[in-house]
Amino acid sequence: MDADVIIAGGGLVGASLATALAAQGLRVTIVEAVPYGAAAHPGFDDRVIALAYGSMRILDGLGLWPELAAEATPIRHIHISDRGHFGGARLTAREEGVPALGYVVAARSMGNALERALGAGHVRVLAPALVVAVTPGEDAVEVTVESGDEEVRLRAALLVAADGGESTVRAAVGIGARTRDYGQSAVITNVLSDRPHQDRAFERFTDTGPLALLPMTDNRYSMVWTVAHRQVEDLLALSDAGFLAALQERFGMRAGRFVRSGSRAVYPLRLIRARQQVAARAVVIGNAAHTLHPVAGQGFNLGLRDAAALAETVVDARRRGADPGSPEVLRAYARWRGMDQNRATLLTDGLVRLFSHPFAPLALARNMGLVTLDLVPALKHGLARTTMGLVGRQPRLARGRPL
Ligand SMILES: Cc1cc2nc3c(=O)[nH]c(=O)nc-3n(C[C@H](O)[C@H](O)[C@H](O)COP(=O)(O)OP(=O)(O)OC[C@H]3O[C@@H](n4cnc5c(N)ncnc54)[C@H](O)[C@@H]3O)c2cc1C
Repeated sequence: MDADVIIAGGGLVGASLATALAAQGLRVTIVEAVPYGAAAHPGFDDRVIALAYGSMRILDGLGLWPELAAEATPIRHIHISDRGHFGGARLTAREEGVPALGYVVAARSMGNALERALGAGHVRVLAPALVVAVTPGEDAVEVTVESGDEEVRLRAALLVAADGGESTVRAAVGIGARTRDYGQSAVITNVLSDRPHQDRAFERFTDTGPLALLPMTDNRYSMVWTVAHRQVEDLLALSDAGFLAALQERFGMRAGRFVRSGSRAVYPLRLIRARQQVAARAVVIGNAAHTLHPVAGQGFNLGLRDAAALAETVVDARRRGADPGSPEVLRAYARWRGMDQNRATLLTDGLVRLFSHPFAPLALARNMGLVTLDLVPALKHGLARTTMGLVGRQPRLARGRPL
């Protein structure tokens, strides 16, 4: 056996899983298409990630949080509103009895911390390299890896596909996917307002799509503005002053006057769901299993919970002398994760559908919904716990316990 576990795709989710497994003495190989440190690494780019409270605890359990905390901005208030309509809801860390509802960290910073952890954990990283063929067997899975002109065959007990939404390894292990284009893209940038952000995040639903502002370092906000594909070119063509004026018009004055913006990047948005999570000696996790709309900041958080739960399942199997790639072990993982994955998909997809509907009675109903949400503590608490990643069966790492 060349490794206990081979992970195809060393983005945020794959690298987190590798870090967790290596810390427990498992032999892990990552096969990654783009070398770490490359400016164009797709997993560790300019986007910022709103980490749920539960994700912070997982990263802490992996030993990464002390380094990330220095660059993280806490979210202590979230304000949710519907443009052009009354009503709104507020979630606060104080009401939930936590120091912060979540934390905002740059994907690039997480990538750097993970890269160091992979080195310290002696994870074997093959990059640039691609998984080109997979042959599951009785005792092991054989994985053919192409790196430049070379091809190598590696054997492991388990193959994990963590190669993102366009996963080719998912298809190679025989798992199909359902895809739906949202007809929308996310335009992201950083903006500065003339008022301190005071650790407030905003989610504003507009008739063209949701607009989110996340508090970040140097009193900036990270902005995620969802628009129809056809509007992207218009937004990109605007001067900085024109862009700030358009943003102000869409968002209003609740966060103050926007005075500066950074460079803009675009992400087309699709919902992708793998039809199964497991196949013979293979598991699909992270965006390869579920690529979500970024509306509620759930994607990485959900993928990190996949990684923490899979690490726990594999480590426990090893401790009791079981084969971590056996059908029973993989079925147990799939049973565990199904509910959380469905919940996060329904939440994000439901929000996008509900709030992009112009039909007046529906607009009224959703505003009543926001008002009710704000007035009924149990409802608000339920939403806060869901977005903090604290509902359902939690992996040990998310509960602050060692793996
Ligand atoms: C605008 C935007 C904002 C977002 N904001 C948030 C947020 O606030 N909170 C949150 O939780 N989530 C957020 N997300 C979602 C989050 O970014 C993703 O869910 C997360 O990055 C997925 O990580 P991953 O490792 O599963 O996949 P990826 O990041 O796609 O990584 C896949 C990796 O696999 C590699 N790869 C691809 N093909 C192969 C192959 N054949 N062989 C080997 N390697 C391969 C790639 O190079 C890459 O490194 C946001 C997404 C967008 C678009």
